[in-house]
Formats: sequence, C-alpha cells, structure tokens
Amino acid sequence: MRKAYKFRLYPNKQQEEKLFWTLNRCRELYNAGLQERKEAYKYAGKSISYYEQKRDLPEIKEIRREYNDIYSQVLQDVLLRLKRAFDHFFGRIKEGQTPGYPRFQGRHRYDSFTYPQSGFSLEEKHLTLSKLGTIKVKVHRKVEGTMKTCTIKHEAGQWYVMLSCEVKEPEPLPPSVEDVGIDLGITHFTALSNGEFIASPRHYRKAEKKLKKVQEALSRKKRGSHRHKKAVQAVARVHRKVRNQRRDFAHKASRKLVNRYQTIVLEELQTKNLVKRPKPKQDEETGQYLPNGASAKGGLNKSISDAGWGMFTEMLCVKAASAGRMVAFVDPKYTSQVCSNCGVVRQKTLDERWHSCECGCELDRDTNAAKNILKKHAGAGSVPQMNPRRESVEASAF
Ligand SMILES: [Zn+2]
Repeated sequence: MRKAYKFRLYPNKQQEEKLFWTLNRCRELYNAGLQERKEAYKYAGKSISYYEQKRDLPEIKEIRREYNDIYSQVLQDVLLRLKRAFDHFFGRIKEGQTPGYPRFQGRHRYDSFTYPQSGFSLEEKHLTLSKLGTIKVKVHRKVEGTMKTCTIKHEAGQWYVMLSCEVKEPEPLPPSVEDVGIDLGITHFTALSNGEFIASPRHYRKAEKKLKKVQEALSRKKRGSHRHKKAVQAVARVHRKVRNQRRDFAHKASRKLVNRYQTIVLEELQTKNLVKRPKPKQDEETGQYLPNGASAKGGLNKSISDAGWGMFTEMLCVKAASAGRMVAFVDPKYTSQVCSNCGVVRQKTLDERWHSCECGCELDRDTNAAKNILKKHAGAGSVPQMNPRRESVEASAF
C-alpha cells in the first residue's frame, strides 16, 4: 500500500534559483523529447520509444554539459512522463475518443520533477537532494513506511516535496456490533442515526469569507496586469488552504467513524441535484436568513461542502476497506420525508429543520434522515458496495 506525504520546502534564494533552473531543464528535455517523437512520426512514420530516448541521454549530456548537473534518474523520469502522456493519448484513441495530442509544456504548466527511486533523503528538518543540496523542510506529520519516490513541486509561488511511501497493509480492526446511518447535511457536516452530530468545522466558514474576498479583489483587476497576477496567486493560496483543511478534517472524521462502526450507511451522493436547488442559507452568527443568500452564498458554500463530502466518502471507503469495515450506499429518496419511527410520510419544506410526527416522534430533521438511511440498508437488503474509485483517492491524497 502506498501512502503520500506533502511537505512545504523552504529553499534559500540560491537554492530556489537552482530549483527553477532544474525545472526549466526538465521542461526543455520534455519538449525536445516530444518534438523528436512528433517529427520522427511525421517525416519517417516511426514511433520512438521511451527506451530509445533514454539511451540518448548520455549523448545529450555530452553536448549539453549542464545536464550533468541534474540527477540521471530525474531526467529519465522526464522521458517517462512523456511516455505516459503518449500512452494516455493512444489509450484514449483506442477507446474511440478524440484526445488532444500531447502538448508542449509552458513555464507555468510544467511545475515538478521526480526522483523516482533514489538520490534523496529526509532528516528531521532537511531534505537532501542529489545535485541540489540540503533544503529546509517542514515535516508536519510522521512519515511511515519506506520512501519510494520524491517529487519536487512548485505550486502557487511555493515549493513542496511530495513523498510516496510503501507501508504495510494495516491489520483489520476487530468487528464492531454498532452500525450507523449518516446524513450528509449543510447545517451539520453529518448527522448520525444515533442522534450524534459531526459539526462542520468552523474554518469552512472563515475560509469561505476569505475566498469571497480574494475572488472579488481578483475580479476588479485588469487581466494581464501585474496586480491581476498577484490576485490570481492570492486566490490560489486560499484555495490551497481550504483544500488542506478539508482533507485534514475528512481524514479525522472518517477515521473516527471507521474505528467505531461495523457498517456505515450513506446516501448515494447526488451532487448535481444539490447544486440545482440550493437551500436558503441562515447566517449562523445572526440567525437571520440572508437576502438572496441561496444563490450567491449558497453556491460558494456548496462548492466547499460538496467537494468535502466527495472526499470524505472516498476516505471512508478506503479506511473501511483496510479495517475490515463496510460502507454501504442507499437511494436517498424520501429519507428526509418519512418518519423513522412509524413510516408515515411527513412532508417538509427545505427550511423545516425539525421532524415532528403524530406518533410522538420528535427529531432533528437530519437525525431522522440518518435513521431512515440506516433502516433502508437493513430493511431493503440493499447491495453493499465499495467505492469503485478507490485508487483515485490514493492518487489524490496529496
Ligand atoms: Zn411517526
């Protein structure tokens, strides 16, 4: 099993220059390799393989001496990336699609290089890279397993190291007797069928405000101007922060659930429906409904929470799979309208937050829904399914 880590790098001025320099040489090599493949095919009808290009590397180093200042495997990896781009391209053609031909990489598109096997080591506060030296790094969580690959990435004005580590498959947890239904909401992050809630993290709201501010600032800047460029970077920085916080929260929340419950039942996510009819949004501080808040504020809020749910669900599936726990999905139809106690339909409007039934059942709307979700799974014998997109989680775990 692979585990991914991403840490911020703090190169000094000289080191940063060297990083940019390396990045540019890699990009140059990528583009040259692409050109070679393109021309060989165009003029000679010949396909050039990764191995042929790799074999030419020593000769390139003879002519362009500066390439000796880059670790060999980093250069090989550049050509491997090119190969993957072509594999992807031909794969899609095979499937009958019409993909775009692999592109030449501009300065802003090509933003990383990789040590695919060796040439790097990590100590407490330092990352040592062959041919580049020792760079300060902030290791904010413990690295487990054996480091396999190391990628250096330039992202929104900052440098990062991304490590892919091989870790042992964790032992499955002993079975639990508790099952739970979960309603993914807006007022709460989730409501559980046992009446508990997982609150939306406060920073969602904070980040949302900040994001709105920087996006407005961006819209006032003239395209192509220096200030526009600065504003784009500011938006990217806030987005990145939101992403990191969201990932962190999703990791913790999903871990807690998997540790405690045997079967976790969720609604099948229907993000599209949610976007179609945004709920009017109540301001948490003042308790007032925001004027036309449904479209303006709702959209942004939703884009944050929707993405959060998708990631949360995927993490839940991955963690459950390795712990020997189960995640099941049920059809969300009527889960909020039916009384979880007596089964009678109690129509509610979207802003009715309380479920009140003549049978005496009094519940938070979302708790009632969560109870129905759990019941639906137990009752209808719905087919439990693991998330088919498992791998994509690990890939996007950066
Ligand atoms: Zn009832």
